[in-house]
Amino acid sequence: MEMIHPQIASREATMHILQAFHLHASKRLGQNFLIDATIVRGIVEAAEVVSGDRVLEIGPGIGTLTQGLAEAGAVVTAVELDKKLPAVLAETLAGYEQVRIVPGDILKIDIRALMGDEPFKVVANLPYYITTPILMALLEQRLPVSSIVTMVQKEVAERMTAQPGGKEYGSLSVAVQYYTEPSIVLDVPPRSFLPAPEVDSVVIACRVRTQPAVTVKDERLFFRLVRAAFGQRRKTLANALKTLGMERERLAQAMEAAAIDPGRRGETLSLAEFASLSEQLSSEI
Ligand code: SAM
Repeated sequence: MEMIHPQIASREATMHILQAFHLHASKRLGQNFLIDATIVRGIVEAAEVVSGDRVLEIGPGIGTLTQGLAEAGAVVTAVELDKKLPAVLAETLAGYEQVRIVPGDILKIDIRALMGDEPFKVVANLPYYITTPILMALLEQRLPVSSIVTMVQKEVAERMTAQPGGKEYGSLSVAVQYYTEPSIVLDVPPRSFLPAPEVDSVVIACRVRTQPAVTVKDERLFFRLVRAAFGQRRKTLANALKTLGMERERLAQAMEAAAIDPGRRGETLSLAEFASLSEQLSSEI
């Protein structure tokens, strides 16, 4: 007989579970539990989850999003840092055979060993205090991830999707757009969570590219250039890049060869321009 599961994504069910297990949402662990079934459905739809899809969920909490994923037929591995929660999840998700709860810290766990070599999707309502390190860890490890669909603070999503020229455009924009095609898919108000966060949230969908957006011989140099250019945003590119410790003349020549005016500010450079400058400099090393 098939089990019928009560839906976790409501204020009542969430309060009931928290009380029953004597839990308090931990601010330190970024715990804001989803209580809005429409948003859970929206996340699962944005991730285009079909039956049999392998999904890594980061921070399942009491299992709200996990339930939505499991109902859509996903095979879920969920990594949770809070030691109190696996026992709770064993009950709230009892009967969902295709869910595996892994206690641990997503920043320390060996994700490749956990997920293997077959493609998988990442779906999460991330703890906001470590959004950027988690995303960068997922992307830089070149894991077989096809997409990342996650709740993030609205302001962080705007930085991830920003185009050259604006004040939101920075190292995070370049890094995320180098590896993925990000788009904001859903606005989520504070009342969709318990407790309500002080910031606005959005769901962002990042389709991971099969090849980076631009081709560079020396990725480390590319990202060093990007960081230096944004490190001193108010300076001209020529001045900001001095921190790289390269010869002035060599930098000037590379900028000229890449057709980039040294008087420009770093924040106006597109990924293609950063790549072209990186290629000029790497060919001289
Ligand atoms: N997915 C649940 C939901 O949507 O209601 C909970 C989301 S809550 C914003 C973030 C979750 O991530 C919490 O359960 C928290 O304990 C967990 N968490 C925090 N830091 C973590 C880490 N480094 N590794 C794994 N989980 C973490």
